[in-house]
Amino acid sequence: MTYRSGRHFLQIPGPSNVPDRILRAMDKPTMDHRGPEFAELGKTVLAGMKQIFKTENPVVIYPASGTGAWEAALVNTLSAGDRVLMCETGQFATLWHGMAAKLGLDAEFIGGDWRHGVDPQAVQQRLSADSDHRIKAVCVVHHETSTGVTSDVAAVRRAIDAAGHPALLLVDTISGLGSVDFRTDEWGVDVAITCSQKGLMMPPGLSFNTISAKALQASRTAGLPRSYWGWDEMLQHNARGYFPYSPATNLLYGLKEAIAMLLEEGLDNVFARHARYSEATRRAVRAWGLEVLSLVPSEHSNVLTAVLMPEGESADRLRAVILEHFDMSLGTGLNKLQDRVFRIGHLGDFNDLTLIGTLAGVEMGLSTAGIAHNKGGVQAALDYLAEVAASGQRSQ
Ligand code: PLP
Repeated sequence: MTYRSGRHFLQIPGPSNVPDRILRAMDKPTMDHRGPEFAELGKTVLAGMKQIFKTENPVVIYPASGTGAWEAALVNTLSAGDRVLMCETGQFATLWHGMAAKLGLDAEFIGGDWRHGVDPQAVQQRLSADSDHRIKAVCVVHHETSTGVTSDVAAVRRAIDAAGHPALLLVDTISGLGSVDFRTDEWGVDVAITCSQKGLMMPPGLSFNTISAKALQASRTAGLPRSYWGWDEMLQHNARGYFPYSPATNLLYGLKEAIAMLLEEGLDNVFARHARYSEATRRAVRAWGLEVLSLVPSEHSNVLTAVLMPEGESADRLRAVILEHFDMSLGTGLNKLQDRVFRIGHLGDFNDLTLIGTLAGVEMGLSTAGIAHNKGGVQAALDYLAEVAASGQRSQ
């Protein structure tokens, strides 16, 4: 590989770009994880994550990727053979459903077309029909990273309540948290799941569960085997700022900085920034004459945009051309969307010029790859950003 000057554009929908402030925060000697200094760090990040999750409940942090936190949510709350209700929003919901089956759960899947979010009515109907309450948990993916479609978690909670059903609500907000509003307590989420490499602007390696009182109660009788993922020991140690095993100390230094940055900017400003960039991206896509995969405007993701290729064109070839010529990585299409879509990540540490650079890379890539499109996508995004700036919203 030869040296490529300038910064690589990492515009996949996570891992997202790690800002220099976080890189510098992690560049420290690893400390004694049983010493007093660590307890301070532990308490600070555990309390900080409650603010990001908008919860008063405990948060636990695993030295693991998001998949580990999915498993933790299931094995802590459920027993072999328990029925769980899941919704096929895309590849990540499909993987989580597969995991539930592997763990010995009776995992029911409400089918979907990968272009819509969870249908709360379908959830309500299914729960209403479950009169003997065999369904123990409803599991939904808040931001389906494979499709760029969001689900309305508050509406799912209302559906569960309207059915008068006691099932737990487990929510994967892996690509949403830290970029898009998520209200764990207000929405009645029993376990929220996330990880470090998306909106939290960190490298991969940390993942999280929030634990409601009801989820904690369920964990006392849940029968699935667990050891590493067990909440009980984790919570006992966390009470004093420690972990039951070696924590990912240097990633926690980074997390402390990431939380400080999000709170400094203000969560509402962070969310507004992502909403602006996603709208600008969709305007660019439409100006190119291409189609956004997400079909319902209220479900468009603010963290990524999946773009459908014109019939007969390969998304992977376009991505390869863009990587080769412009040193930018875009997200690949997953599973049945393989080669049909490319995904533009606009999450995490991102500003107007990063967005315009990203969209310029796509527009130049479409030309270089010889794919029929209209010019003017970047201009459409510029016009929108200028309009927003003129209307008085902060542009950064
Ligand atoms: N859930 C969602 C929505 C994701 O986007 C991802 C990863 O991209 C995962 C789960 C799995 O997380 P990890 O790859 O960190 O295990």
